[in-house]
Amino acid sequence: MPHSLQNTEKQLSREEIIELLNTEEGLTEPLFKKADSLRKKYIGDDVHLRGVIIFSNYCEQNCLYCSMREENFSVDRYRMSAEEIILAAKKLSNAGYKTIVLSSGEDSYYDTDIIAYIVYTIKQFADVAVTLSLGARGFDEYRTWKIAGADRYILKFESSNPELYNIYNEKTVLQDRIQHLRFLKRIGYRVGSGSIVGLPKQSVEDIADDILLVRELDADIASFSPFVPSPFTPYQNMPTASLGMALKTLAVARLAMPQTHIVSSTALNKISENGCIDGLNCGANVILSDLTSTISTNEKYSLDKNIISDYSPDPHKLESLIETSGRKIATTKGDPV
Ligand code: SF4
Repeated sequence: MPHSLQNTEKQLSREEIIELLNTEEGLTEPLFKKADSLRKKYIGDDVHLRGVIIFSNYCEQNCLYCSMREENFSVDRYRMSAEEIILAAKKLSNAGYKTIVLSSGEDSYYDTDIIAYIVYTIKQFADVAVTLSLGARGFDEYRTWKIAGADRYILKFESSNPELYNIYNEKTVLQDRIQHLRFLKRIGYRVGSGSIVGLPKQSVEDIADDILLVRELDADIASFSPFVPSPFTPYQNMPTASLGMALKTLAVARLAMPQTHIVSSTALNKISENGCIDGLNCGANVILSDLTSTISTNEKYSLDKNIISDYSPDPHKLESLIETSGRKIATTKGDPV
């Protein structure tokens, strides 16, 4: 057993993180058990289910791995109106969701005022936390939306290696994204961030640095989703991330950040049946479930599963799987500690 597994109450160093990420397949059980016990000790058994509404799949960016990229002309694009978004949020709140995630590509069609109006209206009728995931936007916009009532903002940096970041998205630079994250934190958002595990050219050291950057940013929610190639993107023929490395990353992230909310990505289900339940057993405690198609009557928003990555399982099946695995679904908003 690596020394770093015996003494996890101290902060893990970069070397220890790399050593743990290199744990051989077949010898990962002690790592997963340690992560699970730390999750239980610091976070408890609650699983926070967040309801995600992807209200627009337009994006002005062109990330090589993403199906929403601007140059993917095969996508059937849609935008929901403000009233449709508010109605969808109402349905999720009535269904018991305590956090509503409003998500889109970087789509400036939705200006500062529209988003502020949507956030403010939702907060008037529902006792929910509102999380925004709209990509990198203006600093004044973040401030306005915070005043309108937004609680959290998810902005992933995808890779902490500046060279890789530039390969994946040549239109923006890593330092800018980090500045946005620091600003969001400073003005009072609970911030979610993280990377994608298994992207082309990524090394184990890069994954270790991703974990360290999330820790250094003091993010409240950490997300390390596995890379799954999307059709009609430059990376469509690249290999899918290995389940082993995806789970090891979650487990090591838990050891490195015992009190942080950690997401078990529904993309894990694309690699292995019930993969996102496996993620819960390796230190994670949050699931973001894309419910756009289940709460909208408009067929256009029923995402084409061959084009847009919709791996979210049926909500009822997910709830019963969580309960069968010995965990319980949280009934609170689950504000990070
Ligand atoms: S990862 Fe985000 S910013 Fe990049 S293309 Fe996809 S939706 Fe747009």
